[in-house]
Amino acid sequence: MISFEQPMFRPPSEANSLLIQATIGCSHNSCTYCAMYRESNQKFRMRSEKEIFQIINENSSPTYKKAFIADGNALVLPTKLLSKTIKRIYENNRNIKQVSIYGNVGDILRKKPDDLRELAAAGLDMVYIGFESGDDVTLKRIKKGANKLKTIDSMRKLKDAGIKVSGMVLLGVGGKERSFVHAYETADMLSKGDPDYVGLLSLQVRPGAPIYKSWESGDFELPDKFQILKELEIIAENTVLTNGHFFSNHISNYLPIKAIYPRDKEKTVKKIKEIISKKSEKDLRSEYYRDVVNQY
Ligand code: SF4
Repeated sequence: MISFEQPMFRPPSEANSLLIQATIGCSHNSCTYCAMYRESNQKFRMRSEKEIFQIINENSSPTYKKAFIADGNALVLPTKLLSKTIKRIYENNRNIKQVSIYGNVGDILRKKPDDLRELAAAGLDMVYIGFESGDDVTLKRIKKGANKLKTIDSMRKLKDAGIKVSGMVLLGVGGKERSFVHAYETADMLSKGDPDYVGLLSLQVRPGAPIYKSWESGDFELPDKFQILKELEIIAENTVLTNGHFFSNHISNYLPIKAIYPRDKEKTVKKIKEIISKKSEKDLRSEYYRDVVNQY
């Protein structure tokens, strides 16, 4: 039996999914705010077809309705292997209706349109991408390996191939200095890329992430909770989606929002503005409960 290298990460919405660890670690592994995949056993590598198929065989069950291919940026795998993997997941799990994967902007843009269409035809439904920001200065500082334009292109390329996009945005990642620009540029990027899902998270500076040292030295200043909410307000107000889910229900956030855009936009923005104007702490998630580490 092949055991998964731990710790393994997956989006919260994939909590009940069949997890297939097709790669180990992250092919990029440079983002300054990221403390994931830093253990010695998580050095990036791709599993062989034999290993991946064995994992599928050993973990399949009719109880699964969704599958998620991990680890970080598993979309880096060659298209043929990925396509065979997705097909095998469906063959072995008759009740699975959705297969998703983590991908980064560079890997998406490196795939040809035909590659992405092949993956869509095999049954790849959605790619989770960490956008983090639409501000190029911030993206460069956090070593994301992508800029705003490329991020927009990656969203369009996936959607053109018939693959849904779920993008994560990181409130606070621009620091105090870039807070407003980060928020406005992110809203503009989201509006131009028009993802199907937007998941907002709030930055938590963790030992093990390179940004921790800059935060300790004072070079990087985290916006306070009401400034983070202001970023949320700006993004909520300035983002235009054709038909998208706009969520800030991840536990790292001070204010959980679950909205469908454009339907719920007006009331969502109104709610955020009211909470900011009252400066009411009682409407916000406490620091203890928003600390991911305390909850596991
Ligand atoms: S944030 Fe994602 S892409 Fe960046 S280093 Fe961490 S796992 Fe890799």
